[in-house]
Amino acid sequence: MDFQTEIAKRRTFGIISHPDAGKTTLTEKLLLFGGAIQEAGAVKNNKIKKTATSDFMEIERQRGISVATSVLAFIYKEKKINILDTPGHKDFAEDTFRTLTAVDSVIVVIDVAKGVETQTEKLVEVCRMRNIPIIVFINKLDREGKDAFDLLDDLEQKLGLSVTPLSFPIGMGYDFKGIYNIYEKNINLFSGDSKKNIEETIAFDNIENSDLEDIIGSSAAETLRDDLELVNGVYPQFDKNAYLEGEQHPVFFGSALNNFGVRELLDCFVEIAPAPRPKMAEERLVEANEKELTGFVFKIHANMDPKHRDRLAFVKIVSGTFERNKPYLHVRQAKKLKFSSPNAFFAEKKEIVDISYPGDIVGLHDTGNFKIGDTLTEGEQLHYKGIPSFSPEHFRYINNADPMKSKQLYKGIDQLMDEGVAQLFTLELNGRKVVGTVGALQFEVIQYRLEHEYGAKCSYENFPVYKACWVDPDDPKNDEFKEFQRVKSKFLAKDKRGQLVFLADSQFSLQMTQSKYPSVKLHFVSEFE
Ligand code: GDP
Repeated sequence: MDFQTEIAKRRTFGIISHPDAGKTTLTEKLLLFGGAIQEAGAVKNNKIKKTATSDFMEIERQRGISVATSVLAFIYKEKKINILDTPGHKDFAEDTFRTLTAVDSVIVVIDVAKGVETQTEKLVEVCRMRNIPIIVFINKLDREGKDAFDLLDDLEQKLGLSVTPLSFPIGMGYDFKGIYNIYEKNINLFSGDSKKNIEETIAFDNIENSDLEDIIGSSAAETLRDDLELVNGVYPQFDKNAYLEGEQHPVFFGSALNNFGVRELLDCFVEIAPAPRPKMAEERLVEANEKELTGFVFKIHANMDPKHRDRLAFVKIVSGTFERNKPYLHVRQAKKLKFSSPNAFFAEKKEIVDISYPGDIVGLHDTGNFKIGDTLTEGEQLHYKGIPSFSPEHFRYINNADPMKSKQLYKGIDQLMDEGVAQLFTLELNGRKVVGTVGALQFEVIQYRLEHEYGAKCSYENFPVYKACWVDPDDPKNDEFKEFQRVKSKFLAKDKRGQLVFLADSQFSLQMTQSKYPSVKLHFVSEFE
């Protein structure tokens, strides 16, 4: 098959949701359609249940599972579907942000009873900033939930989406009768049988047809007609280009657990979702169909075997083909590397592959060469951008608890930060190291992994910081910036890339600083224009 056809076949996307909305269940049903798994229960639920006693074990368990489910691939209707896993737990939100740099589109899962939840708001905002095409799946229609129109309003108001429903529920919960598929113009009746993989649908070109009463009953028929009239009046016609530009957001309804409404979602998805999109590098825009390989590392996963510090670096291929044993340029390190056993992912397995195409993810065994954000090319000096760091929420001093093992400790900290487990800041004043994390759980992860993988011990000390702000002076030579550096020296640090960071100890002091030094811009994100 030729290169162009291979590219056009690929659909690489992520499923995002608030924990418990049904991401795992939906993923599993999608895999069932692709024939990639035979039975339910094959996709492990990789979430951390926050229990006071067994956090470490949960973390370790979760790490094992999340290697296995990092990328799930299957073929459906001749399309190669790559699902990138995004952890739902909020302590791992940064992981999800990074994964979103590697997807070409997303499906957002919403719980019909809960509606839009906070975790979803942040993730969708990141997608909208990057104009990533979004499809929404409203799940658990077999349960009582919010009114469909209220949910659509919620999506518009809380998530800022411009929705257009492509299916519509007939009843809900106890009265749930099925779904009218606006996109395909047919009705799918709900039987509550989760084993049914392929549902039978009844074609229904004209909703006014009186057969509707016979099929769903007269009162449901009347409601459906009214609902569809309202849908027609209020929401715009589906426009594929607007969806692809990230300006219109199709919505489907269903019940993942009952495998209901999932086929409709998938059929529409393979038809409308984008093939690998061009990606912006610092130097230029790179198209997927360029012949030379380019790609970037968006995730690094430590091997589960603590004796080997072998890691798996996940590379998203943006253009060209990735071939086994061919030398590629690691741009940051300015050296050529060859990979004898690149991994591709299929269903819940990984295997060695000779060639991968744009949209695919390859897993490269790494002994410490890669950092998140690194670019691989065939020689071009290219740097993919768009993996910014966000201000952490929790900060602590990290101290060496075993002076004999300081080398191990620093190596361990270095590698864990490369993996993106947390962010390290070095105070300008005294060189002390401060770890910043999104959730408190990461402090335990770091301590545990330093001990078990690097043989080093650390302790923490509180360091009250409200936010880390990346410093961006209008003029690094002006007196205002010099005064800022002098007065705030206690709160200044360098991040891992050497960028200057201001650690504000409270919202108040941040505001004061901003108003006192207006020419020194402070950003909550490490990348700014
Ligand atoms: P995740 O945290 O988003 O991955 O959510 P899960 O897929 O693990 O689902 C959370 C819970 O909701 C599980 O107990 C599922 O069985 C249940 N669930 C998922 N989909 C449905 C659905 O369509 N209907 C009902 N009633 N329950 C569902």
